[in-house]
Amino acid sequence: MAKALFPGSFDPLTNGHLDIIARASKLFDEVVIGVGTNTSKKALFSATEKLQLIEGATTRFDNVSVSLMSGLTVDFMAEINAEYLVRGLRNATDYEYERDIAEMNRQLAGIETILLMAKPVNQNISSSILKEVAKFGANIDHLVPDNINKALQERFHEKKE
Ligand code: ADP
Repeated sequence: MAKALFPGSFDPLTNGHLDIIARASKLFDEVVIGVGTNTSKKALFSATEKLQLIEGATTRFDNVSVSLMSGLTVDFMAEINAEYLVRGLRNATDYEYERDIAEMNRQLAGIETILLMAKPVNQNISSSILKEVAKFGANIDHLVPDNINKALQERFHEKKE
């Protein structure tokens, strides 16, 4: 059985991530989305919030689950018995970065990294740019799943009690 891990920050999940998840779910028997908990990037959503949002956006995939992860990716992969690492590629900058990490993971644990590309309409979506424009009220309906859009609107535009 081929099991893959798709790790990331997912702050928040976008249609770009979802495109990669849909592709991976067809390629592998099982896909685990690993939500990073110790990233140095300052996050808008907590790891638990991200986990719940991703679960809400991926219910249609029978073979996809979501987990919180910390520590080395290769250690987490050993823990869950995943032999493939999935990452997405948007552009040449992503490629350079992913190539170095893939090589490191191959050296550390013999792991194969599978790099997937989203379809053109989803290719340039980035969580950081999305957050910037969402903050100023831009329409992001076509860039994120509905539940994420709602969470972003709540975070930026509605007062919490
Ligand atoms: P990280 O901080 O680990 O890069 P991200 O949430 O930014 O976490 O990205 C997780 C993975 O999803 C990365 O491999 C990234 O390249 C990929 N990804 C993000 N957006 C897109 C997109 N629009 N198209 C393809 N891959 C994407």
